[in-house]
Amino acid sequence: MTIIAKFGGTSLGNAERIKNTAKIISEIKKKKDVVVVVSAIGKITDFLINAVKNTNKINIDKFIDEVYLRHFNILKEIKQPTNQDKKRLNLSCNSIKQRLILAKQQNKINPEDIDYIAGFGEKFSAFILSIALEQLNFKTKMLCGDDNLIFTNNNFNNAEVLFDKTNNALEKKILPIIKENIIVFTGFVGTTLNNKTTCLGRGSSDYIASIIGASLDAKEIRIYTDVDGIMTADPRIVKNAKIIKKLDFNEMSELACFGAYVLHPKTIEPAMKKNICVKVINSNNTKKFTEIFNKREKTSKQIKAISSKTNISILNIYSTRMLKSYGFLAKVFKIFEEEELSVDLICTSEVNISLSLNGLENNQKMQNIINKLNEFSFAKLKKNKALICIVGEFLKHKYGSAGNIFNKLGENKINIEMISQGASEISISFIVENADAKKAVLLLHKELIESN
Ligand code: ASP
Ligand code: MG
Repeated sequence: MTIIAKFGGTSLGNAERIKNTAKIISEIKKKKDVVVVVSAIGKITDFLINAVKNTNKINIDKFIDEVYLRHFNILKEIKQPTNQDKKRLNLSCNSIKQRLILAKQQNKINPEDIDYIAGFGEKFSAFILSIALEQLNFKTKMLCGDDNLIFTNNNFNNAEVLFDKTNNALEKKILPIIKENIIVFTGFVGTTLNNKTTCLGRGSSDYIASIIGASLDAKEIRIYTDVDGIMTADPRIVKNAKIIKKLDFNEMSELACFGAYVLHPKTIEPAMKKNICVKVINSNNTKKFTEIFNKREKTSKQIKAISSKTNISILNIYSTRMLKSYGFLAKVFKIFEEEELSVDLICTSEVNISLSLNGLENNQKMQNIINKLNEFSFAKLKKNKALICIVGEFLKHKYGSAGNIFNKLGENKINIEMISQGASEISISFIVENADAKKAVLLLHKELIESN
């Protein structure tokens, strides 16, 4: 049985934390096979991306020295680096440097350069963690997503996985060596069919862990992080937020899309297809975790969580031509497709559609969309809104739960603009003013979660 264990940037933030991470992994390996997936060491991804975007403002040599030193200093607290170790670090630094020089000459920011360079963050951390594991006398094998393992399309910065090819490659490569080795796999990184490094989007190491877990039919996908698991609300807003012990996949998907900051939103999908439990665990206290899985149990009849996303916009589209006509919605969504902008909530009446969008109100894309919509309707954007989402199976089972929620908001003079409850009945989402968001979350958390 295999366990996938993903560690984020803070679990790898310094030598001490890397040693703690290696210890956690060694405990797992005593009983099970393990594939470790790593993020870059904290803040390194930003540091690398920032350099590619500012090649004409930075001193490339100084930048490379800094990248080298940040990793070297951590490494030397784990073991006395050999010449071979130094050579490996230098080799990667040199590749980054050559690419930065080329990027600077081109005089424009190229998404391909960003991915090539950003991907080194995970390569460094995988290398250092492998060494920490070897110090504990384990044999390791480091694998990189761009070494013909995680295949993607050419959508640099946000590449989409080609699943059949990827699953085949992962199985073939990992299964024969997993018994004798701890596999240390880079998160974040993939490859195009013609061998160019891609990145799968910020925070996507979680997603890669899930992809690997699904392709190997793993027993469990563990996401180690620096928080206690998924909370009933953002603990920065609600002091009394609690850990959610168990969530089902559908509930988690609703939360992931609406601002749950702990897991990359795509993580659930591969795990769900293979019915593999995803566990979000605090790497400082492994007794604290949230389990996400398929089984609906009897105890789940309660509101699980309240999440909020501020600074979003609503687009209201009016047209009398919607009345008794067909194809109107198709026309509207065609425009969103052309501009590649995704929509969160949708409410319609006979003469109006309201859509909530992810805060891109100043964006050129938004202007293009409004211009196109205005050719056959009247579109108006409202800014400074917040989306609140209440998630839990409970909503389905208890009469009047929606009434209760909206009464409470009304009593407290919080105006609600759009309401949406999907057919799954496991979430209710609505829009309020930005300024009311915090108050609404606190109020509902108290009423629906703390009082239970
Ligand atoms: N290192 C990448 C990022 O910072 C990927 C990840 O952490 O999951 O976005
Ligand atoms: Mg993350």
